[in-house]
Amino acid sequence: MTTILQFKTERERTVLPSRDVRAPRPLLNALTIDVEDYYHVSGFDHCVSRKQWDDFPSRVGDSTRRVLDRLAEAGVRGTFFVLGWVAERHPDLVKAIHRDGHEIGCHSYAHRLIYEQTPQQFRVDLRLARLVLEDLIGEKVAAYRAPSFSITKQSLWALDILLEEGFIFDSSIYPTHHDRYGIAGTPLEPHRIDRPEGTIWEFPPPVWRLANYPLPVGGGGYFRLYPYALTRRGLEAINAAGRPFAVYLHPWEFDPEQPRLRPGLARAFRHYVGLRRTEDRLVRLLKDFRFGTMSQALGEWLPAPRRLLLAA
Ligand SMILES: [Zn+2]
Repeated sequence: MTTILQFKTERERTVLPSRDVRAPRPLLNALTIDVEDYYHVSGFDHCVSRKQWDDFPSRVGDSTRRVLDRLAEAGVRGTFFVLGWVAERHPDLVKAIHRDGHEIGCHSYAHRLIYEQTPQQFRVDLRLARLVLEDLIGEKVAAYRAPSFSITKQSLWALDILLEEGFIFDSSIYPTHHDRYGIAGTPLEPHRIDRPEGTIWEFPPPVWRLANYPLPVGGGGYFRLYPYALTRRGLEAINAAGRPFAVYLHPWEFDPEQPRLRPGLARAFRHYVGLRRTEDRLVRLLKDFRFGTMSQALGEWLPAPRRLLLAA
């Protein structure tokens, strides 16, 4: 008898409220964090060698925990693309991110630009990072983001290696113009890319098509540089066009007290502009839009028949 009652209750809970009477929900967007320290960024490559990395005081633990606190307060889960080098030195941090319910993705091992590596070097770096991360969380890692979005026309071969290494999602192709990254003209919405090795899902960084120009909006330096109202308007326009977006930020963007490096004026501007604004802006952003992990955002956006393709 009890079983039948439970069955009925479960059925009622599943069936009601009906889809027809529910108000349409805003789109679910992806909140993504590239977990690296302030001295890892590609803009410092010419003035900081990898041999020096261990000499810098690490701040990634504290700044990532600040991000985790803001997300916990807002009840938001996101995707954290963790650098393998960081994961090896901060295993408890990776476990804490995972324990909080966030998705763990891979941000390479040593933050090398893909188009400056051979396919074999890329594979070795990728595999090492993946193994470090999977060992820590006890789960497969299926999402990848390249350092500085360095999958470009010259390095599309990296998608085949990602597929061979078991990755399902990528978020490395920026559909805009930039001196270091981007393939302008690629789709602005999440899409499948068919490659000789199979099919991978691409979830591009956010681009607002403004007067026919693909304007990056809602990530990294753009998020700190533009007035928040402009960012919000751009992101609203992306959702209004029926596309979810993938905001991206880095823990060092929440750390205005980080030691100052001297990469030259233009690079210093990109790295240091608006560091004091990031945290408050993230809090506003989390109130203004719906966010989840990259997998959740993609899963919710795809119509049901296409979701089966994702699972396949
Ligand atoms: Zn990075």
